[in-house]
Order: sequence, then structure tokens, then C-alpha cells
Amino acid sequence: PYTGPSAADILAKRKAYLSPSLFHFYNKPLNIVDGKMQYLFDESGRRYLDAFGGIATVCCGHCHPDVIKSITNQINRIQHTTVVYLNHAIADFAEALASKMPGNLKVVFFTNSGTEANELAMMIARLYTGCNDIISLRNAYHGNAAGTMGATAQSNWKFNVVQTGVHHALNPDPYRGVFGSDGEKYAKDVQDLIDFGTSGHVAGFISEAIQGVGGIIELAPNYLPAVYASIKKAGGLCIADEVQSGFGRTGSHFWGFETQGVVPDMVTMAKGIGNGIPLGAVVTTPEVAEVLTRRCYFNTFGGNPVCTAAGLAVLNVIEKEKLQNNAFVVGSHLKERLTALKDKYEIIGDVRGRGMMLGVELVSDRQLKTPAKAETLHVMEQMKELGVLIGKGGFHGNVFRITPPLCLTKDDADYLVDAMDYTLSKM
Ligand code: PMP
Repeated sequence: PYTGPSAADILAKRKAYLSPSLFHFYNKPLNIVDGKMQYLFDESGRRYLDAFGGIATVCCGHCHPDVIKSITNQINRIQHTTVVYLNHAIADFAEALASKMPGNLKVVFFTNSGTEANELAMMIARLYTGCNDIISLRNAYHGNAAGTMGATAQSNWKFNVVQTGVHHALNPDPYRGVFGSDGEKYAKDVQDLIDFGTSGHVAGFISEAIQGVGGIIELAPNYLPAVYASIKKAGGLCIADEVQSGFGRTGSHFWGFETQGVVPDMVTMAKGIGNGIPLGAVVTTPEVAEVLTRRCYFNTFGGNPVCTAAGLAVLNVIEKEKLQNNAFVVGSHLKERLTALKDKYEIIGDVRGRGMMLGVELVSDRQLKTPAKAETLHVMEQMKELGVLIGKGGFHGNVFRITPPLCLTKDDADYLVDAMDYTLSKM
């Protein structure tokens, strides 16, 4: 049993010594002391179904034995910097990761986070093209350093960073967007930005395939092929941010961009890549990667032996346990059941997403799509009491984010929906 400090003690320390900007879920924040696969345990030993997965981070399950074994084997031998000396763990994982990529995407740059990966990808695009302008989508989240905060396009995540060279295109949002599900109409806005907001030449375009922080918004069909064509014509590079949608989470595909049938020039990733271990990567072509030889570039710990040992174990577990297929089968069942709830409750305005990246948007008026923010918080709180943890997001904070470990079972999915059903029925 857990004998450490209580939740109240931790909260007091956090208030005294940690960033005042740290936020937490729930009126009484959970003190999570153990994790096992899709379950989390609090200090009293109470079990919760983890349907948020540390923000789409845990793909294999918490404390997956194969991942732990790989990490501990490596750390018992050596942990050190990625650069300067050779170590097989780094090279082995780079090779395995490259084998999961389409086209000529086979050069891997490791980082410690998604922010770093996107910063690097944007810099590479600017170096390669000699241009500065980058287009990203409204409602996107790409990170919190200067460049990526510029590409991020939700005011609640932005400080007053200098925005030079970042243009934000209309979001191809099938639920709230002006053109509904017509991806090609939204893509025209990117061409307009190129024509009227730049010299006609751009460094690149960056987007998620399914916006995570933005509230699980799947880009309207046919959007990316049209945009990628415009960007290529303008000499730019296309960057796919797979920080949340990668590693089989969408079920139908290993990478989110594949759902739109495109091949990017650069793919950025983090979160699921290490099942919770800090690791990120940019994968690109040898030709594009060459630009970084113009100066010295290195990252002390990005892709260090322990983190890449974790990464390799993650890829093996996804394959061995057929987690992508599980994300597809169980995720489809979960989506079907959530969609049925929408018929039962007026407050559910939309159910969307793919595989194990699902969103449920609550509105107090279906016609006006008025965000039901308070109700969203209430349902989350009640579901926690029933033992189910889900996330929330979206600009208005009225979208449930369901991004569990990919080992979620059909029974877990049913329990989640039953808990949501019960809570909504009591409102
Ligand atoms: N891109 C996306 C799509 C993300 O969701 C996030 C994190 N929420 C990031 C980039 C930034 O990753 P990190 O927090 O690891 O810097």
C-alpha cells in the first residue's frame, strides 16, 4: 500500500514551490501513485480507467513490462548523451522508426519533446527553402516555445510572442467550419494566403491530421492533398505533426496523415513514441536533412540511449500486440456507442474522431452550437466518481477528449459509455 504524502500535502507543496500556471483536472485533484496498462490507481488503491492516457501519450499501457525491461536493461548498462560517442540503441531505434515511414522519409533527428520537434522542423523548412513564411491552421497546437507558439493558433495558449512569418489558415473543421466537410474549399484559403500574404514563395505548412488540444477535430476530407499541392507549387515543405495522431492511434493507419492519402516532407512526433518517456523526433528525407550540416547542430539528450530503448520497445509492442488493430476495432465500437448516446441526449452536439482519438462535444443548443462548458466539467467530475478519467479540450473547453492507451478493451469502452450515459441521465 501507498505510504507517501497525501494529496493535500502534495497540493500544498505544489502551490508553494511549483509554477503558479500549473493546472489540474478535478475539484479534488487525483494523487496517482500506480499505473498498470489502461488503469491508474490513487493513494487509497482505488482503480480508474484511464481514457485520456496522459494526453494521448501512453500507447502500450502504463508500465508495460516490455517497455520497462528495455529501459532498465539500458539504464543498467549506460545512459549518456546522444552525441559524441556511438551507441546501438539510438541507431537501432532510428532504423526501426524509418521503416515505419512512407516514401524517402528515413533520416531521424531526435528531440526531447513535441515542441522541440516542431521548432526544428520549422527551422529546417526555412533553411531548405530560404523563405520565412509558414502557414498553420487556426485552432492548432504545435508547442510552447517562440516559433511553435507562433504556429499554435488558440489565444489561450499564446503569450505575446512575435508572430513573424506565421499565417493562420481557415480551419477545415467539419462541425463548426463555414464550408462544412468540403476540404477543397478550405484549402483555397491556403492558396489565398500564399497569393495575398506572401511573396508567392513559402517555407512550409504545418498541421495535425486530427487536432488534439483543439478538441479532436479531424480535418475535412480531401483537405491535405489540395493544400500540399499549393504548398509544393509555392516551393514549401509540408510538415505533419503526428505528436498525438501517430503510432497507430487512429486505428485505420499508423500515421494520421495517411488518412488523407498524402506524404509529407517532414513528420514530427512525440508523446506516444516513448509511451510516456520524454522523446520526440523529426523524420525527413536525406536531401532536406542535409541543410543542418551547414552549421553545428546537436541536442544533448534528444534520443539518448534510455529513451530510444523505450522507443524501440514501444514499436515492438505495438506490432506484437496488434495495438493499431485494437485501436481500430475497439475504437470503432466506442465511437458507435458514443454516437448512439448523441441520439439520446440533446446536449451532445457532435461525436467525432478515429480509432482511439475520439471527441464528444457538448452544446446547450444544437442549432446555435453554444458551448456547454460548465456541463462538460460536471460530467468529467461525475465520471471520475464512477472511476473513469477522460480529458477535455477545444477552444471553448466543451469537448471530451478520449485518447486511452491503445490496449483498451471492449469492456472498458462499454464501461466508459455506460458511465457517461448514467451521468448524463442524472442531469
Ligand atoms: N504538437 C501537438 C499536436 C501536441 O498535442 C503537443 C502537446 N500537446 C505538442 C506538439 C507539443 O508537445 P510537447 O508538449 O511534448 O512539447
